[in-house]
Amino acid sequence: MQHLSEATVLSALMEQLTAAPTSSLLLDYDGTLAPFRTERHLAYPYPQVVPLLNSILSCGRSRVVIVTGRPIVEVEALLGPLQSVEIWGSHGLEHRLADGTYRQLAIAPATTELLKQAESWLTAEGYAERTEIKPGGLAVHWRGMADAEIENIREPLYKGLSAFAEQSSLKLLGFEGGLELRVAHPNKGDAVTTLLSDMDLTTPVVYLGDDLTDEDAFEALRPRGLGILVRPEFRETSAQLWLRPPDELLDFLQQWLNSISSHQATSVVTN
Ligand SMILES: [Mg+2]
Repeated sequence: MQHLSEATVLSALMEQLTAAPTSSLLLDYDGTLAPFRTERHLAYPYPQVVPLLNSILSCGRSRVVIVTGRPIVEVEALLGPLQSVEIWGSHGLEHRLADGTYRQLAIAPATTELLKQAESWLTAEGYAERTEIKPGGLAVHWRGMADAEIENIREPLYKGLSAFAEQSSLKLLGFEGGLELRVAHPNKGDAVTTLLSDMDLTTPVVYLGDDLTDEDAFEALRPRGLGILVRPEFRETSAQLWLRPPDELLDFLQQWLNSISSHQATSVVTN
């Protein structure tokens, strides 16, 4: 696929969507559907994202799934007027189907204990206000700080938190705006692998994401579907396509909607 132009790959996908009876649209949230905000609880989606997703859902031909590092309750609050949708939260540790069925994977007591120790360390170092406790992990946010200030804390934070990730079931992740110490599995790649396992092999499937944590998802999807990096600037990635938000993202969602809608129109004529 590498030798094909992005436009060719995209139009081939749209043709597949028109022809296929069903398809899957897997979406990261922060940085992909919503711009970053220092006030994380105010990071609402770009205008038009929710109406477009609602139209795609109403069409009934695409399974729409949000795969996010945020806890489900948070992303649900931010997506507000979106109709009920399937969400994998906390990097795949939590799963809620569109019908409300919810489950959370268990974490080993030793891992929970290590996370508590890491939290105590962060509090002692003065990062309590920047620390977010979430299922299976904790994140330290530095978005909104001056660059020089970030440079000062990055190294000691990385070192301090790395100690908890060594020889344990935890891993330390860099993300846009901070560091996260969390259970090594599941990650977003595991969530995508599980999603793929109950999809028909011919179902077109696409994953849109911006962050380093989305690379696991791109890798898991690679043999089967299309990874799309959504980011203002390009970076090295396992995704096959690159879209700049919000305009190219909105255009993509509109094209998706048009493609699955034209399938319906065709069905009506041929029946
Ligand atoms: Mg993201």
